[in-house]
Amino acid sequence: MRVVVAGLGAMGLPTAWRLAQRGHDVIGIDRHGIASRVGSSAGDTRIFRLAHARAEDVRLARRALQAWRGLERDTGERLVDQVGLLLRGEQARAWADVLGAEGVAVAELDADGVEGVFPEAARRSGEYAALVPGDGVVFARRGLLAIADAAAAAGVELGGPERLVSVEETPAGVRVATDRRTLEADACVVAAGPWAEALLAPLGVRLPLAPAIGQVTYWRGGGAWERRPSLIDFSRPDRLGVYGLPTPGKGYKVGLDYGDEAAWNTDADGWGVRGDEEALNGDWVAEHLPGLHADGPHQSECCPWTMTPDNEFAFGRRGHVVVAAGCCGHGFKHAPVLGEILADLAEGRDLWPEARAFDLGRFADGAGFRRVETPLGARIAI
Ligand SMILES: Cc1cc2nc3c(=O)[nH]c(=O)nc-3n(C[C@H](O)[C@H](O)[C@H](O)COP(=O)(O)OP(=O)(O)OC[C@H]3O[C@@H](n4cnc5c(N)ncnc54)[C@H](O)[C@@H]3O)c2cc1C
Repeated sequence: MRVVVAGLGAMGLPTAWRLAQRGHDVIGIDRHGIASRVGSSAGDTRIFRLAHARAEDVRLARRALQAWRGLERDTGERLVDQVGLLLRGEQARAWADVLGAEGVAVAELDADGVEGVFPEAARRSGEYAALVPGDGVVFARRGLLAIADAAAAAGVELGGPERLVSVEETPAGVRVATDRRTLEADACVVAAGPWAEALLAPLGVRLPLAPAIGQVTYWRGGGAWERRPSLIDFSRPDRLGVYGLPTPGKGYKVGLDYGDEAAWNTDADGWGVRGDEEALNGDWVAEHLPGLHADGPHQSECCPWTMTPDNEFAFGRRGHVVVAAGCCGHGFKHAPVLGEILADLAEGRDLWPEARAFDLGRFADGAGFRRVETPLGARIAI
């Protein structure tokens, strides 16, 4: 089978790799090139976690960890660092229960315990907290480059930047027009992140996708931030999560779990760092991670989310086109497994049982997005 994979982020690139591993003839294209600073997969790090609300996600993440370890063996590069994950807030209790039921090590912590693993964090007594020692950080850019090497070794044709312009169904498959050529193929995987909607609409695939810009800020304080666990803190009264993770060379990255839809622009040059967002991030860090706030923010970065109403992926096959959309806030760590799931769809197989919740058919009921008021105005919640 000949397959064109358009969009080579955390979804498309591993799909191209997995398809080539299975003996298919694969062409991978990306308008910005692989591991560019643009797109939802941009940046050095993401949280790696088995911790999830759904047992199915725990199983997918476990399988992903094995795949990342396999890529580490092949490349000699460290791709996942199990520095641990600190969960704070009542909502974390349900996650810990799911982990326990799946046989994953998780330790409840009292205030002294939290201080022991994260001395820079504010002491908050009477709240639920837990540490997942096997979770931590996945090195995103390095991981994408490792998958790109594996894909090239498996025979994927990867070139410089090339933009998908349109996909058209033909009796035998698809005709794919790019800004450089026209390709006939048996199938096309559209994994174009926040740019997907305009490519899918002419094919009759209408998804509720909401691209929005997220912003993260790096903090260092004076301490040993590099060895601190990743963090998911559910304690804000507005139910918005806050996440953090050590990013070697840069600092402890902190992000608030919402995106700014008004800031989304198809041209990445329009996504400037916002000072008011950085200040809001700083207010949170000053209150909850005071030991990291001491010497001010070191840097901020922007990156697009592509939200679906339930914050999950939107996967499916329509004719000869496989749709891989909806970045959701936790997709990167699953990348090698998402590639397997999407390769199965390209081969005409069904979604795995663990992935049925991602079926894009679920949006038929027109469910809406969750939007929240923040000090900076309305934002879409992750
Ligand atoms: C701020 C933020 C924090 C996150 N934190 C975490 C985390 O801690 N842990 C975790 O596991 N996940 C996290 N995620 C989620 C994860 O990063 C995403 O799920 C994942 O990166 C999505 O990958 P993608 O391939 O769908 O999209 P993208 O990475 O955006 O890839 C789409 C690609 O398509 C290309 N493209 C677009 N249009 C075209 C076209 N016409 N032709 C060719 N190519 C095209 C783009 O250049 C891009 O490279 C986070 C996401 C964000 C935004």
